[in-house]
Amino acid sequence: MKQTKAKPKVNRKELLVSNDYSTETHLIYGKAYTEKWDYSHHLVPPITASATFRLESAERGAQGFVEFAHTVEGKEVSKQAPIYIYDRLGEPNKDLLEDNLALAESADACVTFSSGMGAIAAALGILTAPGNQIVSHKTLYGCTYELLTLWYPRYQIDVKFVDLLNLNSLKKAITPATRVVYFETPVNPTLDLIDIGAISEIVKAENEKRKKDNRVSVVVDNTFATPFCQRPIELGADFVVHSLTKNIGGFGTDVGGAVAGPLWSRDRLLLYRKDFGAVLGTKNAWDALVYGLPTLATRLRRQQETAIEIARFLAGHPKVEMVNYPGLEGFKQHVLAKKQMRDFDGNFAPGSMIYFIMKGRTPEESRCHAEKLINSLAKNAYTITLAVSLGNIRTLVEHPGSMTHAAIPASEQVKKGLDPGGMRLSIGLEKVEDIIRDLREALNKI
Ligand SMILES: *Cc1c(COP(=O)(O)O)cnc(C)c1O
Repeated sequence: MKQTKAKPKVNRKELLVSNDYSTETHLIYGKAYTEKWDYSHHLVPPITASATFRLESAERGAQGFVEFAHTVEGKEVSKQAPIYIYDRLGEPNKDLLEDNLALAESADACVTFSSGMGAIAAALGILTAPGNQIVSHKTLYGCTYELLTLWYPRYQIDVKFVDLLNLNSLKKAITPATRVVYFETPVNPTLDLIDIGAISEIVKAENEKRKKDNRVSVVVDNTFATPFCQRPIELGADFVVHSLTKNIGGFGTDVGGAVAGPLWSRDRLLLYRKDFGAVLGTKNAWDALVYGLPTLATRLRRQQETAIEIARFLAGHPKVEMVNYPGLEGFKQHVLAKKQMRDFDGNFAPGSMIYFIMKGRTPEESRCHAEKLINSLAKNAYTITLAVSLGNIRTLVEHPGSMTHAAIPASEQVKKGLDPGGMRLSIGLEKVEDIIRDLREALNKI
């Protein structure tokens, strides 16, 4: 039988643009009929596995190179299907994922990378040059801290660490050399919040005095919140960076990263990725596209319901000194949490991460209790696993001081708000009663 090429009855791309359906639904379907790749007879986009692409003529090859990373006045040059050349430049699975990530983050463009660190290095890489300065919040994920303190001085890129919870300290830190204001919110691992809107206002006022080439960009690491709980670009930030390894991937099977930002940055990010080479594997892109993003809202909603109950349980426990969870009524930045942490429908969305500190008469005793608790959980708990990383369907616990943030010297850790007795919990999809049972049993042993 002769196959005729059926025209899709519903133009999903039009629907996507028309905003008739929710973001949550868009993340399941994406652009089902995209000009990037016609797979309209598949329910899910097929996984690609082609390092290079067939070019039927020299002209097509040449045209592909003309169009690559070539945006004219804010518009992509060609409205036709892209000419794929080589995986490191672009391929369908990554392109489809990037469209959906941009949609989730309310960004005009998104480029994926091989890891969260690859994405952070790329965002900072396109925004800075020798002689420039980055103003960063003082507490950061350990590898980001090391990127800024071990490597950037070699490129004469200066980094000033300030407490961005204090807006005056930002105003004082900005100099003519500043090009980036960088932070995580919620901060890894303390769960402190930084006011994205207020920081963006200060930077906007500064930029009004500057020429286009010298502007300051606000870059937010949105890994802890995910776009389900918070969209920094809607709040005034310029760029969002992600570790897709965490809750966007969601199942802990893939390492990946992404930068979402303005359209002008897309070409530079694509060129940076092409030349520095931190390209996301197609299988990793496909997993995030087909499993991660479509289930993001459902997983986060469930994780949040569990997280608030766990946070309340810990806050009421006599062996626990302090609990930071943005959803707790007693959380010191609850008002800010309610202002900036909102899901796609506008509901309060405090996320799936909890930070808590064990009691102790001295910091040393508090650390000792944290280690005991971790070891007891590692040995006996069924529903809580000792592991770094976060945003998984399984509940994970770790001790930041000796693990994810070990790159920060112990003497510096306290200054950065990292308590020796602090522990980080990433809530999964288990039944809340089971997690509490494991926590209670481990706490009883201390
Ligand atoms: C894990 C993490 C990163 C790094 O991501 P990778 O995918 O491991 O490279 C960056 N920022 C935060 C907040 C993270 O939790």
